Amino acid sequence: MNDRVKRWLEDGTVDLFLGYKMIMGHPLPHCFVKEKIEEVNDLIIGPARYSLEKIATHIAAVKPDIKIGLLARDCNQRALNVLYIWNQLNPENVRTVNVNCCPSNLKEHGDCSYLEHEAAGSFKRQVGIDNNLQPENIEGYGQSQRLSRWMYEFQKCIKCYGCRNICPVCFCQECSLEHRELVGTGALPPEIPIFHLVRAVHMAGRCIDCGLCEDACPVDIPLRLLYQKVNEIVSDVFDYKTGTGDSQSPFNILGDTVTLEPKPIQLAKTAN
Ligand code: SF4
Ligand code: SF4
Repeated sequence: MNDRVKRWLEDGTVDLFLGYKMIMGHPLPHCFVKEKIEEVNDLIIGPARYSLEKIATHIAAVKPDIKIGLLARDCNQRALNVLYIWNQLNPENVRTVNVNCCPSNLKEHGDCSYLEHEAAGSFKRQVGIDNNLQPENIEGYGQSQRLSRWMYEFQKCIKCYGCRNICPVCFCQECSLEHRELVGTGALPPEIPIFHLVRAVHMAGRCIDCGLCEDACPVDIPLRLLYQKVNEIVSDVFDYKTGTGDSQSPFNILGDTVTLEPKPIQLAKTAN
C-alpha cells in the first residue's frame, strides 16, 4: 500500500493522498503529498474511521481539478458513489486504495467500529430500548409508543451538530438545520422532533449507513435506525439503494430526461 501511494504521488496519478497517520498515539486523518514523500512510510489504515471523502469534497470545492487519492473502506466507497452522483466529486479525479474491513453485501467479515454498537444504558435497557434495534423490530410498536420512544431519544440532543459534521454525505453549503424558519435557535434542547426530522428527510436517498453519526453522537441517540427507516422507504418507493453504485440517479423514477416544466395534473376519473 505504502509503495503504491508513493508511486502515485511521484508519477502524478494523484496530487495528494488522504489516509491515516499515528499522531500522539491516535490514528488521525492525514494528507500525504509528494513534497513530504517520506511521510508515506507512516501511512496506516488504523482502527479509526473518518469521512476522508468529506475532506476530499472540501478540497475539491476549492480546487476542482485536483487529483485525490484516499483509503476507502466499504463505507467510504458507498459515500463516494453518492458524492459522484450529487456532483460533489468527479470520479475521474479520485483514486482509491480499497480496504477490506466492513460488513456489507460485498464483504462478509469486518473489523471496525461499525460492528461494535454502543450498548444501551441501564435506563434504556429497563424500558426495553436497545440501540441495536432494526427497523423491522420497530414495526412491532404502535404509533404512540414509537413517538414516545423517539421523543425520549431526541430530548437528549445537545445540538452539537456532530452528526451533521461527521456525515460524509452532508454537503449543503446552506444547512436547513441552521435555518431559523425551520429550526428555532438560541435554546436547548433543540426543537424536537423537527431538528431530527429535518435531518432525516435530508438523508433520504443519501445516507449510506456508515454509522459515523451514531458513533459521534455524545448522547447516544440511535440515529442509524432513523435513517435506515427513511432509506427503507426510499428503496421501496423509488427502487433506489443509496451508495450501491455511481450511475443510478435517485431521480431515475422520473425518467431519463427531467425538465422543470410544469406538467398537467392527471385527475383521477370519477365514477358516474
Ligand atoms: S449513517 Fe449517519 S453519518 Fe453515515 S451517511 Fe448516514 S446519516 Fe451520514
Ligand atoms: S450528534 Fe447527537 S447530540 Fe449532537 S446534534 Fe446530532 S443528534 Fe444531537
